Amino acid sequence: MKELNGFYGTDKKKMSEKIKYLCESATNEEISAFTLHACELRNQHYGAQVFFRGLIEFSNYCKNDCYYCGIRRNNQNAVRYRMSEEEILKSCAKGYDIGFRTFVLQSGEDSYFSENKLRSLVYKIKTCFPDCAITLSTGELSRDTYKRLYDAGADRYLLRHETANEKHYQMLHPSELSLKNRKECLYNLKEIGYQVGAGFMVDSPYQTYDILAENLIFLRELQPHMIGIGPFIPHKDTKFANYGKPTIYKTIIMLSLVRIMVPKALIPATTALNTVDASARDKGFFAGANVIMPNLTPKQYRKNYQLYDNKLCSGMEASENLSSLLNSIRNINMIPNLSRGDHVDKIKDGISVQCRRL
Ligand code: SF4
Repeated sequence: MKELNGFYGTDKKKMSEKIKYLCESATNEEISAFTLHACELRNQHYGAQVFFRGLIEFSNYCKNDCYYCGIRRNNQNAVRYRMSEEEILKSCAKGYDIGFRTFVLQSGEDSYFSENKLRSLVYKIKTCFPDCAITLSTGELSRDTYKRLYDAGADRYLLRHETANEKHYQMLHPSELSLKNRKECLYNLKEIGYQVGAGFMVDSPYQTYDILAENLIFLRELQPHMIGIGPFIPHKDTKFANYGKPTIYKTIIMLSLVRIMVPKALIPATTALNTVDASARDKGFFAGANVIMPNLTPKQYRKNYQLYDNKLCSGMEASENLSSLLNSIRNINMIPNLSRGDHVDKIKDGISVQCRRL
């Protein structure tokens, strides 16, 4: 496909020009051919399946102060909560009963959840639900801690890099955080054996097409198993509160590009996408996404995990509405899959999905 020339090299400028062309000038026909190509690649590896993960946002305390984040340490307006171990296990049980076989445990960087607490939690979930995969998303930790959590039973780890450009990283984060450390964490996780998820925001403040190209180059180098991409949505209690109105078009383009560059990745149609546009979930699947993460967090906490304004936590984002979500996926001729849904290179005999060509 001629519109993809330049994506397979390492020339940042060429790649940046192509992204700009796709985002600003490509015809509808070109975009259709391009997203179709992304879907074909997805289907070669996973079929037209959508994999489900039950999301449990178990603490919104965070020691960090990322400038764009609604639950950053210095936001005095955030209403803080922490779930108990018992509440987390109950949420897993609820998810298990409705069919989920992957639990994503996400939190801010909350030191209350020490390594010992997290290990105990992982071990208990794995003991109660041995046929389930556990994904952790609890931020930057030491290599040794990652290793011990892996040994306790964690299978996957999500840690978005947010931007692969050092200067840009510094514009979005306080000086105690560094892209170097973030990248080191991701490589450590991979080396330990986790299925690793990276990702970035599209249209974040100061982002350029060159920076988007750097993100793609980094992802191709890292070869993560999962890639999360969502539109930047401002939060009212941050310095970016008035930063533009979020749109989804560029995110959809980037989703397809990521699928083309890392074809075996598991890629969610993110909640952020759907927060901007109610029909964006389907558009994400039509662009090459194949994962969805319904929210299993108890209702009384959900509204307080506000990373950005108006984050959806009810409607079809909620695990209670699973049947509507299943129907909406079938309606676009895709196949819901509630199994562990491992990365295609990590599937163990008899445990996970059957990959097939459609
Ligand atoms: S983005 Fe993550 S690490 Fe940064 S403040 Fe928010 S929850 Fe904490």
